[in-house]
Amino acid sequence: MPHPLDPQKPLLETMTWPEARQAAQDGGRVVLLPVGAIEQHGPHLPVDVDNRIVTWLCDEAARRRPDLILSVPPIHYGFNEHNMGFPGTITVAVEHFTNYVFDVCHSFVRQGHTRIVLVNGHGSNAMPCALVARRIVNETEDALASAVNHWSLARSLASELRETPTGGMAHACEYETSWYLFLDPDGVDMSRATADMLEQRTKYTWVDIMEGDGPVALIDDWSRISNGSGVEGDPTTATAEKGGLYAEEEISNLIEFCAEFKSVTVAPRRNYTARGGDPNPYDYLA
Ligand SMILES: [Zn+2]
Repeated sequence: MPHPLDPQKPLLETMTWPEARQAAQDGGRVVLLPVGAIEQHGPHLPVDVDNRIVTWLCDEAARRRPDLILSVPPIHYGFNEHNMGFPGTITVAVEHFTNYVFDVCHSFVRQGHTRIVLVNGHGSNAMPCALVARRIVNETEDALASAVNHWSLARSLASELRETPTGGMAHACEYETSWYLFLDPDGVDMSRATADMLEQRTKYTWVDIMEGDGPVALIDDWSRISNGSGVEGDPTTATAEKGGLYAEEEISNLIEFCAEFKSVTVAPRRNYTARGGDPNPYDYLA
């Protein structure tokens, strides 16, 4: 007896190819691609923080709405040059990273999916992920891609929950540590958690993933700025309870976005140039 097709499997990795084909039918389910990093996260957290959070988030969203969402295996390694002064950090050059992530996303389009969401968990991946989403739109006929840094989905909740002052939530901080305490408390060594608040170096530059960065991005190498902990923020105020609240908020907002994204209409391209006709950028790039 052949296995019956299961149309409700949430994770691509568990599917057979007939099931994967079914998940891509008629424009397909919304693909959630977790994009993480292997990177130092202070003396109290493992290096897999960014992977662990986004993979769980995407998988859980798909488990709750398998009719709408397909969660797929993550991009484990990220663009991380600024953190190579710390052990346990692995980096992929930005050109390789961008091309690799594009190829993965493009494969889903070639399989029939028309909605891709890059769910990013690592700060330096943000710009390449946005560029990949842009390239998917430019270089395919009618697929749409979007990119989100997962913490952005919890910003309004963070304004209620946070104990860290503005300019102090960034990395291995109250927020990320709370998430990990929620997912796997045994993986966190709170006895080693230490606050490392970065000084504001100019009037125009600060970093805060929850309240938004300052108007100017002052880019620097992490090892020059950190006091040696690798932390940016105050993880001592983290709790599993806050992590659970962040998780719920992000799951429900992500599901809501996917439902709206799926129904966004794609208009035909128009060409107002003197040449006229179909501008077909995807065509000449093929
Ligand atoms: Zn992180």
